[in-house]
Amino acid sequence: MNMADLYQVYRQYPSVQTDTRKLKAGDLFFALKGPNFNGNLFAQQALNSGAAFAVIDEASYVIEGKTILVPDVLEALQALALHHRQQLDIPFLAITGSNGKTTTKELIHAVLSTTFRTYTTEGNLNNHIGVPLTILKIREDAQMAVIEMGANHQKEIASYCRIALPTHGLITNCGKAHLEGFGGVEGVRKGKGELYDALRAGKGTAFAMWDYDYLHSMSLGIDHIVKYGTTEGDVVGSVLQSDPFLQVQFTSGLEGMVNTQLVGAYNLPNVLAAVAVGLHFGVTPEKIRLALEGYAPSNSRSQLVAKGSNKIILDAYNANPSSMKLAIENFAKLAGDNKILLLGAMAELGEESLAEHQQIIQTIAQYSWAAVALVGGDFQKIDHSYQRFDTAAEAGAWLASLDPQNSTLLVKGSRSTGMEKVVEYLK
Ligand code: ATP
Ligand code: MG
Repeated sequence: MNMADLYQVYRQYPSVQTDTRKLKAGDLFFALKGPNFNGNLFAQQALNSGAAFAVIDEASYVIEGKTILVPDVLEALQALALHHRQQLDIPFLAITGSNGKTTTKELIHAVLSTTFRTYTTEGNLNNHIGVPLTILKIREDAQMAVIEMGANHQKEIASYCRIALPTHGLITNCGKAHLEGFGGVEGVRKGKGELYDALRAGKGTAFAMWDYDYLHSMSLGIDHIVKYGTTEGDVVGSVLQSDPFLQVQFTSGLEGMVNTQLVGAYNLPNVLAAVAVGLHFGVTPEKIRLALEGYAPSNSRSQLVAKGSNKIILDAYNANPSSMKLAIENFAKLAGDNKILLLGAMAELGEESLAEHQQIIQTIAQYSWAAVALVGGDFQKIDHSYQRFDTAAEAGAWLASLDPQNSTLLVKGSRSTGMEKVVEYLK
C-alpha cells in the first residue's frame, strides 16, 4: 500500500494503537515488533477487539480486507507520522536535553494551552515509537505542537527531527546522562545538538538557557535565538526561594514573582523556558503566570508529598549524576533538621559509573543527615559507611523500622531502582 492510501485509511481511523490491551473499537492497529514480541501475532486479536485495520509486515498473517501489509511496520508508522506532519502548518516545538524535558514540556503545555489548541507528548512517550505516535494524535484543530524527544545515542534526535520537522527547538541542558550510549559529555552535546542542526537547516527558532556557555557555541548559526537566564536574555529570573516550593523573581519578560508548586531550585530553567516560549508566541503575562502557578507535578518528578508528620520530596522518576547532585544540594539547603536521604543507584553510566557514584557519595558527605540509605547498583560496590540495600523494598522496611517523625525525605534514583516504593512503607 502506498503512503497516500495509508493516509486515507488513517484519516478515516485516526486513533492509532500499538498495544492490543488498550485497543478500542475503530482503532488503527500497528503490529510493531520488539525484542521479545512480534506484533503480527496479535493482528487477529486486535481485529477481534474491534480494530478497523491491522498494519502488519509478515505476509503469513494477512487477513483479506482487514490487514494492510507493508514492508516494515515501524517504518510505516514513522512515514505516516511524517506525512501527517507535512499537512500541519503550525509551529512544532521539539524539546530535548539531559534533564527536565518532561517538566519543561508540561510547563510549556500549560502556558500555551491557555491560548492555543496545543498537542503534546503524553507522559514520557519520547522515543522512536512515541514521537510518531504523538504526531499521529494531532488533529486538525491543532494550533501548536510540543514534542519531547529523548535519546541515549547519536543520530537519534536527528532521526526524530526528520519526522517532526521542528520549526522551534529547545535543548534544556547537556549534562551527565546516558554517558554510555553518547560517549561522554562531549558526545551528549553532539547528540542533543542534532536538534540545533535541524533548526539551522530549516531556519527555525531556538529557545536557550543563556547561563549555559556551551549552548552559545552549540547554537552558532541559528537565525533566531530566544534567550532566557538568570542574568541576561529576553526573559530573566532567579530563585527567590525554594523551601520547599520554588519562587521565581523576574526582572525581564514577566514582572514580579511567580509561586510555583515545583520543589527544587533546579526547576528554575524549566520555568524560565516556559515563560520565554509563552511570550514568544504571544501568550499574555497574566495567563503565563496563572498557568505556571497552577501546574502541580503528579508523576514523581519534583513532587512534594505529605505522609503522617513527614514530608517527602518524591523525585524518584529518574536520576543521573547531574540531577542527583542538584537534588541533594537543593535538599541540603531546605530548612529542618530531620532530613533523610533515600537514594537509588544511577543507570546507564558505562565505565564512568563507579566514579560517578563515588562523587555522589562525596556530595552526600558534605552535609549532615538524620539518616542515609543507598540502594542497589554501583552504590553496593563502593566502600561507604551509609546504610546499603539491594532493593527499594528493603530500604522501605528499614525506613518503617526507623519510624521517622517530623522529618523530610528525599527519594530519588534511576527508574530501574523503583525508589518510589520506599514511600509505601512510611506510615
Ligand atoms: P527522561 O530522560 O526520563 O525523559 P526528562 O529529561 O524528561 O527525563 P524530567 O522527567 O522532567 O526529565 O525530570 C526528571 C528529573 O530531572 C527531575 O525529577 C529532577 O530531579 C531533574 N531535573 C528536572 N529539571 C532539571 C533541570 N533543569 N536541570 C537538572 N535537573 C533537572
Ligand atoms: Mg521525560
